[in-house]
Amino acid sequence: MNSVILHQNQKWYNFINTIKNKKDNICSCCKKKKELMLLDFNHYKIEKEPWEQEEKSAFLVCNSCFKNNENIEEPDIGWYLLEIRDLGGLSGVCKKKSCQQKIRYEYKIYHPEYGYLTVGSTCVDYLTGKEKQMCFDIKKEYIHTKKMVNKYKPKYKKNKKGLIFLEEKYKNTLIRIYKKKENCYLTRIIKIKNKKPQIKEAILLKEYSTGKKALEAGYLKIKELKSKNEEHKKILKELLLSI
Ligand SMILES: [Zn+2]
Ligand SMILES: [Zn+2]
Repeated sequence: MNSVILHQNQKWYNFINTIKNKKDNICSCCKKKKELMLLDFNHYKIEKEPWEQEEKSAFLVCNSCFKNNENIEEPDIGWYLLEIRDLGGLSGVCKKKSCQQKIRYEYKIYHPEYGYLTVGSTCVDYLTGKEKQMCFDIKKEYIHTKKMVNKYKPKYKKNKKGLIFLEEKYKNTLIRIYKKKENCYLTRIIKIKNKKPQIKEAILLKEYSTGKKALEAGYLKIKELKSKNEEHKKILKELLLSI
């Protein structure tokens, strides 16, 4: 099954990409050119975030050279969230030593003294405060939207111009999906004012390969438009990009 990235810590990935470009993807340890993903530091400044460290202190190592954590105790606090991924099924394993459960949602986290760890929804408890809340909110919105999509029974109609479309009402807004051709569906969001659809003010989203994806995008966009909380809007925007 395809995995879907639900969230990425952009600051971290921007930082690592800058280092990657500078070091030409060469592992600092074995000097081989590989698909490098892991970042380590010579002098880590504890008062700064990982992506605010000095570039000259940062280096890249390949998976096989990265510090072996088998004998290090996993710290309880001080972790950073890097990425959340839906594997689509129970195909992952929580790497926390005392857990090792099969997982569907994968949280990639980082600790300056430990390195990388991939954990499941339960062990994401390692994260604190805002990040923990964010993980919870992202998963909640993602699952809720998927449930709505799966419950929806699509009924396509044909309009006078011969266009095939379907319509779904959600939060006093219309989602109209046009089937342009096989594997090409277009989503339009239409507000309703005084019971009339405001076609002229419609928002056009990009084209999607399936009607389900187009509908999912529609729900997410409406949720985003209706949300009054900036953090929440950000989560919904990111989920919309993941489709
Ligand atoms: Zn290496
Ligand atoms: Zn776990």
